[in-house]
Amino acid sequence: MIMGDICTRRCPFCDVAHGRPNILDPNEPKHLAETVKNLNLKYVVITSVDRDDLKDGGAQHFADCIREIRQTSPETLIEILVPDFRGRADIALKILSQNPPDVFNHNIETVPRLYKAMRPGADYKHSLDLLKKFKHYCSEIPTKCGLMVGLGEVEAEVIVLLNDLKDYQVDYVTIGQYLQPSKSHAPIHRFVTLQEFKHYQTHGERLAFKNIWSAPLVRSSYFADRQYHGEAVPSPYMSE
Ligand code: SF4
Repeated sequence: MIMGDICTRRCPFCDVAHGRPNILDPNEPKHLAETVKNLNLKYVVITSVDRDDLKDGGAQHFADCIREIRQTSPETLIEILVPDFRGRADIALKILSQNPPDVFNHNIETVPRLYKAMRPGADYKHSLDLLKKFKHYCSEIPTKCGLMVGLGEVEAEVIVLLNDLKDYQVDYVTIGQYLQPSKSHAPIHRFVTLQEFKHYQTHGERLAFKNIWSAPLVRSSYFADRQYHGEAVPSPYMSE
């Protein structure tokens, strides 16, 4: 995770600290690239806190990280899991298109009805637009999107959400059970049954996403390399 550990948003399901972030570390891209090289990573997922305090939302910092990793580890595949860049999406996407990743991931998190409560400061349609607009700049690069279930949505809403992701040309999808980080976070509304997870999986396959993983322990970047390479949800953790 880059750009510090203090987020300018306050999503009630998330355990990241919020408040006023520190200034960016200009050496972070170099240090990150060194770490990727030292660990000999073949696939890396870079994510960040939301940085509403920055004019470009932190896009240039993401791009700098990608550029540095490409220089030191040219074989490494890079996925970025980005914030919504709300209010600055065009600037951010233009910057990222100069140093694009191999996968562009942005999590929609939940259904639109729960946005006000679960994603204050965010907007469902804006997140969809961000995913589609990225394709406008980099049509060959796949997009990816994740959501949690068990937050209060109903099955029919998730099906509509999946249809929306398809309409907005998303390639990879992850669906997992929400777990409450602490008692002060949003409560778990329900534990979704395996049957329901399978329904989402089947529906996603029918929609012909490049790949969809729907199972309780699936997370946005869990086994991201395997999903990218088209593998099925790893067992035994993800199925009956
Ligand atoms: S924007 Fe992301 S990091 Fe920030 S609180 Fe929400 S989920 Fe957590």
